[in-house]
Amino acid sequence: MSNRRRSDPPRQATAPCLKCSKYVGFCFGVQRAIKLAREAAGRHSAAIRTLGPIIHNPQVIAELRREGIRAVNRFTNLKPGEVLIIRSHGIPRPVEDRMHARGLLVIDATCPFVKKAQNLVGQLAREGCGSILIVGEPHHPEVEGLISYGPPGQVHVVQSVGDLKPLKLAGQVGLVAQTTQSPAACRRILASLRRRKGITVRVHDTICRETNRRQADAVRLARQSDAILVVGGKNSANTARLHSRCQAVNPRAYHIEQADELTPEMLRGVGTLGLVSGASTPASIVREIARKAEVLCAGL
Ligand code: SF4
Repeated sequence: MSNRRRSDPPRQATAPCLKCSKYVGFCFGVQRAIKLAREAAGRHSAAIRTLGPIIHNPQVIAELRREGIRAVNRFTNLKPGEVLIIRSHGIPRPVEDRMHARGLLVIDATCPFVKKAQNLVGQLAREGCGSILIVGEPHHPEVEGLISYGPPGQVHVVQSVGDLKPLKLAGQVGLVAQTTQSPAACRRILASLRRRKGITVRVHDTICRETNRRQADAVRLARQSDAILVVGGKNSANTARLHSRCQAVNPRAYHIEQADELTPEMLRGVGTLGLVSGASTPASIVREIARKAEVLCAGL
């Protein structure tokens, strides 16, 4: 006789149908940065350093350490000729200048999409914008880098329409975005700026298409699934954003980093299971989680 209570979730009749996003694994920028670091490790016998972790994924960081690629938070101990890699987020210009002044062998793995946004900040200033607004997170490393490409005091970071109110704007105002921002947030800010009198807005779309597609596909899958697993480092901002967007449409959206975090409770009663990943998650971890989900479901 069954010990199940009425309130228990239904038993799993069959394994869930697994729907995996086609945008899992590293994004182009992260893939490129890791490739550049590995190529440098192949060319140089000394340790290769990256300024900050090249990727927000502890498993990949550990793998790279074994290959002689280590993250450092400062470079004042490094000697001239040692290799230092700029990660895909980019860095503030004065920091890069100091690296070169120290005689380090600098490898710039800034994602080309981030580099384009950096250059546009400088270009807008040269073309006469008295204020340049960046839609983004004020303390994100990419945003700190972007700010440095404009004149001091003329670049402002905004996250919402409310952040525009205290700003004194006049004449030409430039607008760009952190590459991983949501297009909807940028549209709201642009619409508000366009209603302001006495300014001309010059906008450049710097949102990364890959991030856009990944987020849109994740939301689509979250809507179509009973539960969705969002795989990525707990300290990864883009995975956290992906998770919150999935959770907005599906309360059973779980952010996990590794297969051993997957529990039977996450899968109980699930007919369709969605699977998505952040931009810095290796596809191998996603595959491992898919296998673990199948094993757990077989036992439910
Ligand atoms: S998310 Fe987009 S902008 Fe950021 S590193 Fe990846 S490809 Fe580049």
